[in-house]
Amino acid sequence: MKVFLFLFLALKLYALVIIDKPITFDKERIYLAQKYISKHYGLEVKNINITPRLIVIHWTAENDFNKSFNHFKDSSLPLDRPYLAKASTLNVSSHFLISRQGKIYRLMPENIMARHVIGLNYNAIGIENVGGEKNLNNLTSAQLQANIDLISYLKAKYKSLKYLIGHHEYTQCQDLEFWLEKDKNYQTTKYDPGDTFMSKLRSEFPSFKSCLKAK
Ligand SMILES: [Zn+2]
Repeated sequence: MKVFLFLFLALKLYALVIIDKPITFDKERIYLAQKYISKHYGLEVKNINITPRLIVIHWTAENDFNKSFNHFKDSSLPLDRPYLAKASTLNVSSHFLISRQGKIYRLMPENIMARHVIGLNYNAIGIENVGGEKNLNNLTSAQLQANIDLISYLKAKYKSLKYLIGHHEYTQCQDLEFWLEKDKNYQTTKYDPGDTFMSKLRSEFPSFKSCLKAK
């Protein structure tokens, strides 16, 4: 019996399934990302590779998987986001998207820059969760477990990862050495994914820092 229990736990540990479902990552997106890095971070870069230092957790503010995916798919921003477009026409994206059933989709390579969090994109891996429509926390227990599994995988893979934050906490990170945003007035108010979801995640990963603890 003990052997079976051990086998079950071992399988669960190594059974992380990541489904690749790439968004468009063409020359335009790379060019727009380089321009974003130049304008907002003051860096002239030959490629848009990153060293991930923090994980940022999001919800898509949309309960439908396909609509959520389509937000990120194209290289340039849709016309209905004028505030973001003024800052850059690079479309928002995220490295991972987790369905309401807890399936993990990888939208782009983990080590290149996605636009998902002001000030921190150049150092962050983004995990989006389908849900949070009307900014109500409706993330599922399957999503919580998938986040835990995915963060465990990333933590083991990238030793440079030291921080875990919710998108709603990002303004707390402005004193970090890798906060890069040049425009102090460029900020948006965020609610995703909220304190309840983050405290559940943090209890699983006590070694990760929040930006509050960093000060
Ligand atoms: Zn977000």
